[in-house]
Parts: sequence; structure tokens; C-alpha cells
Amino acid sequence: MSIVVTGGAGFIGSHAVDALLDMGFSVKVLDNFSSGRMENLTHRSGDPRLSIVKMDLKDGSALPEALRGASAVFHFAANPEVRVSTTNPDVHFRENVVATFNLLEAMRRADVGELVFASSSSVYGEPERIPVGEDAPIRPVSVYGASKASGENLIHAYSRLYGIKAVAMRYANVAGPRLRHGVVPDLMLKLAKNPRQLEILGDGTQVRSYIYVGDAVEATVLAWRRGGSGFEAFNVGSEDWVTVNDIAKLIVESLGLEGRVEFTYKPLLHGVGWPGDVKRIALSIDKLKALGFKPRHNSVESLRLTIEALRGELGL
Ligand code: NAD
Repeated sequence: MSIVVTGGAGFIGSHAVDALLDMGFSVKVLDNFSSGRMENLTHRSGDPRLSIVKMDLKDGSALPEALRGASAVFHFAANPEVRVSTTNPDVHFRENVVATFNLLEAMRRADVGELVFASSSSVYGEPERIPVGEDAPIRPVSVYGASKASGENLIHAYSRLYGIKAVAMRYANVAGPRLRHGVVPDLMLKLAKNPRQLEILGDGTQVRSYIYVGDAVEATVLAWRRGGSGFEAFNVGSEDWVTVNDIAKLIVESLGLEGRVEFTYKPLLHGVGWPGDVKRIALSIDKLKALGFKPRHNSVESLRLTIEALRGELGL
């Protein structure tokens, strides 16, 4: 059985490639290497079941041929940086909405029947209460969140019209080895430049839930293999949460800089770090738990493991 993984050279995608190869599948990676890195896959380079094709999903012309013979597509390719919405909203429209539409059209033409979509907790915007369940209103407050909600809606329609079995994984913050964007690498790289002072975007009290990438991939495979047909959305997170201040303290502690770093803050109205940033988000994962999922790591453990891995990867 052959599976296509878009964005398979990226952070979560490359861990999904590892898991799918370990499960015995053949895997074809489609990636334009905009943020993806070949080194995320080099440890698999001798495996004849892995093929890697450099391709941009914004150009749909070669996609149907690339998908021919695949049983399922895991769609991770996207621009995942929420902050990009602030200055360049068209990036999220093209990379996340147009690319997803091109993929769906190609799946229809190549007759590929199963899709796993990397959605995001950002589809909920600022939920009224946390943890938020899958039936809460979809009210994104960033163009990134809107692009993920649009992706889900397109997939829902394609599922109804053309019988594609689809699952949207609404990930919380995912962390682990190979992570290169978001708060954790940001703060670590800032401290590497200046170990005396750390600027935190926002007032530091923003609430976040972190899931370890191994847990996130396990949940994704579990949801993909569920019975039934049609479209389903699943929240993917751990069951606790931390603040951005907690993350900063964990990093400072792990780098052995306790008591030596002055924290400075750059809050916008309501204490968020940038327009479109969400002040409090955490997910109810009851639906996933009903499939038998239990995260192995909580938010703090996921962060500790990530900081340790990134220290090695970034040479800090
Ligand atoms: P990433 O940037 O590491 O991976 C994205 C991959 O997609 C990269 O390899 C990149 O080169 C590729 N790509 C981007 N645009 C492409 C295009 N037009 N054509 C082909 N390839 C393209 O990001 P990630 O953190 O691994 O995120 C993977 C997915 O999960 C994304 O869809 C993201 O929105 C979603 N997500 C991530 C998180 C998180 O915390 N990391 C949380 C929620 C949702």
C-alpha cells in the first residue's frame, strides 16, 4: 500500500513518514522544501519504499500523476506560521487554501479515496471556554486559522461529493525533535544571541497546550484507521496546558541560565503577542480518547523533551 505525504520533509510530516514506513507502507513525499529539510529524511535514505519528489502544490498540473496508485494522502504541506497572516495574508490563502484545493482536485482525478488533513486548533479562534470540543463554533481570528477552516470545508464538500474518506486533525501546538518554528525555537535562539535578556511577545500569560510529535502522529494514524466513511474532525492535544512564561522558564532552566535572564514583554491589547494570536486555547480530546488514544507526555514533558532535542540540533 502506497501513501503520499505532502510536506513530508517538514517537522510533523517527517515524523509521520517515519511512522508509516515503520508500519510497512511505501511512502512518497511531495514537498517544495520551502521550510522542509532533506536532513529530516536522510536517516531513511536507504529505504527503497521511500521516494521523495520536489513539487509545489500551488501548481496542480503534475499532481494527479504524482498521486496515481496511492491509497491515501497525508496532507501536511502548508505555511504553518500564524504570524505571517499579519503582514502577508495572501501567503496563507495560496499555500494553505489553493494548495489544498489543487490536492483535492488531483485526488478526484487520480481516484485516491482517503485523506488525512493537518488542521489546527486555530480554527476555533478565541473559544468561550477551554478545553474546547470539536462541536464548538469555528470562528478563526487569524488568516492562518481561516485558511485551515477553509481547507476543512473544501475537504468536507469533496468528501460528500466524491466519496473521499477524510479526517481533519486539529492539532494544538506540536513539539519535538526537528521543530524549527514557533515559540520554543524562537526563545531558544533569542537566548543564544543574548543570554541576559529575553523578549517575550505578549504578556507571557497566554495559555497553550503542547503535544509531543510522537503522540500527535500516533493520534493521526489512529484517526485515519477509524471505521466508517465521510469526514470527521478530531482535536489533538494533551490534557494540560502551560503559559508562555512557563515555556520561557523551562528553556532558561534547561540552558542553565536561572536567575541570570531578565524577561521583557511586548504585549498587544489583551496581552497577545501579535494580531491573530490567541490568548487561551486548549483542546478537549475526548473524541480521540474514545478511539483508545492516550497521550504519553503532558505539555511540560513534551516541552522538556523538545528543548533537550533542539539544544543538540541547534548546537546550543
Ligand atoms: P513545517 O513547516 O515543518 O512543514 C511544512 C512542510 O510543507 C515543509 O516541509 C514545507 O517545505 C512544505 N510545503 C509548504 N508549502 C508547500 C507547497 N506549496 N508545496 C509543497 N510543499 C510545501 O510545519 P509543521 O509544523 O510540520 O506543520 C505541518 C502541518 O501541520 C501544517 O499544515 C501546519 O499548518 C499544521 N499544524 C502544525 C502545528 C504545529 O504546532 N507544528 C499545529 C497545528 C497545525
